[in-house]
Amino acid sequence: MKIGFIGLGNMGAPMAANLASAGHDVVGFDTMAKPDGLTLAVTAAAAVEGADVVITMLPNGDILRAVAADIHPAMKAGAVHLDCSTVDVASARAVAEMAESAGLTAVDAPVSGGIGGAAGGTLTFMAGGTEAGFATVSPLFDIMGQKAVHCGPAGNGQAAKICNNMILGVTMIATCEAFVLADKLGLDRQAMFDVVSTSSGYSWSMNAYCPAPGVGPQSPADNDYTPGFAADLMLKDLRLSQMAAEAADADTPMGEAAMALYQRFVEDEDGAGRDFSAMLPRFADRGRNAG
Ligand code: NAD
Repeated sequence: MKIGFIGLGNMGAPMAANLASAGHDVVGFDTMAKPDGLTLAVTAAAAVEGADVVITMLPNGDILRAVAADIHPAMKAGAVHLDCSTVDVASARAVAEMAESAGLTAVDAPVSGGIGGAAGGTLTFMAGGTEAGFATVSPLFDIMGQKAVHCGPAGNGQAAKICNNMILGVTMIATCEAFVLADKLGLDRQAMFDVVSTSSGYSWSMNAYCPAPGVGPQSPADNDYTPGFAADLMLKDLRLSQMAAEAADADTPMGEAAMALYQRFVEDEDGAGRDFSAMLPRFADRGRNAG
């Protein structure tokens, strides 16, 4: 396929490189990044010319909307705009409407798996859009990832991503605060892990990404909380989940509390740039009335 790829940052550059290595004809564009080894265009419109599929991997919904307005008129009739960024559901749905009125198909397919998954071609995609759009881009999912789930119409990929990450933020906080309570009750962290990881309190946060150093599988906690998945990115996703909850009138008090905690951690407590599991030392340093 002929593929245009807009947004060649930490995630986009390795994803584009994997598509090119698999034999696709990839032309990339980024306002800042100029990664080696990829064919680059001088404008976004030039990168998408004649492409069967245009992939965007951008920081947020406002930038996605602006890029879509720029590239849709330059895209070939019937081409697919596959957005893999994590953005708000409303922007994903607005871009799908813009695509439809330009005679294009849109698929929103945010990813989980991070930079390692992008480099290794092992991402998971959660996709929203039509059956036909999903079928067109499925071979590309197979190259860039190991699993793709079609979640329903436009915007449902973003909906699945923010619901998953709201659960992740909440369970990470619950796991970290439980470790600190266990510490203060004189319970050994290894014993706490051995019990919870095989009991009804288990979760991915405890079992696969344990926030306590030296306990459970290797995780960012064993590397001084170097990300991994940065607290800043968790805050972004929790904000998106609260924007969606407000728009849909959904009652999400735990998600709201998790967003408030990550906001304080990132903005006021030196959590920026640390892994999101660094909530454990953050709680450990505080008493009950720390505010
Ligand atoms: P990044 O900041 O490294 O890359 C974004 C790129 O977009 C940058 O190179 C930037 O120059 C480019 N860009 C910005 N505006 C542009 C424009 N108008 N035209 C063309 N290029 C433009 O971010 P990233 O880590 O690659 O993340 C990309 C997306 O993937 C985000 O939505 C993020 O939430 C999501 N995501 C990231 C991770 C991760 O671990 N990094 C994991 C899952 C999802």
